[in-house]
Amino acid sequence: MNNIAEQLSLAYQNLNEKCQGLGLTQPVALIAVSKTKPAAQVLAAYQAGQRQFGENYPQELADKATELADCRDLHWHFIGPLQSNKTKLVAQHASWVHSIDRLKIAQRLNDQRPASLGRLKVLLQINISAELTKGGIAAKEMLALAAQVNNLPMLQLKGLMAIPAPGESEQAFAAMQQLSAQLQQHYPDATELSMGMSDDWPLALTYGATMIRLGTAIFGARQ
Ligand SMILES: *Cc1c(COP(=O)(O)O)cnc(C)c1O
Repeated sequence: MNNIAEQLSLAYQNLNEKCQGLGLTQPVALIAVSKTKPAAQVLAAYQAGQRQFGENYPQELADKATELADCRDLHWHFIGPLQSNKTKLVAQHASWVHSIDRLKIAQRLNDQRPASLGRLKVLLQINISAELTKGGIAAKEMLALAAQVNNLPMLQLKGLMAIPAPGESEQAFAAMQQLSAQLQQHYPDATELSMGMSDDWPLALTYGATMIRLGTAIFGARQ
């Protein structure tokens, strides 16, 4: 086994053990975050069985998606900040967008989504630690944006995403679990909760994460 296959296998083993320990009955999705890593490493992970990948930069996503177009069932999750002039690349290549934080971006993704690809699954990003430098909406804006996104026919509102400030993971995850419950009262299908990275995913699971995003744990440190 190559190193990526080993790291993946270890990550899934840890994830399964943690899920069993918590008595979770629903599967948790592991998104392999491949930003800054070459397509060859994504391919190695794909050949080891991984199907969900995360990318932060639209052009990098488009380049890798084009290069790996022959990989059946490979799904790209766009998880980074998104500017208006880059929405088309994401609409054309991603299956999921985790970082929806304003109507304008959602509207453009909706308009640019090729009908042949079906609806784009989206999560609203919550700036849960209220950091000035981070994307995402305030918690109190969640339902208003959800209503707008829910009206866009080529988007499918699936849930929430957050990136807690360093050292604040636990309180952030707890707050996100409550917000997710609130969202689901209005949108019963918006059950996904994307939170937890290489350092803090076990804690995220205890607060109801349904998707964890692992970069370093799979592909090693980034430059
Ligand atoms: C880079 C990134 C990750 C992965 O981070 P690791 O600490 O390497 O696991 C997850 N989520 C987002 C939004 C990221 O930008």
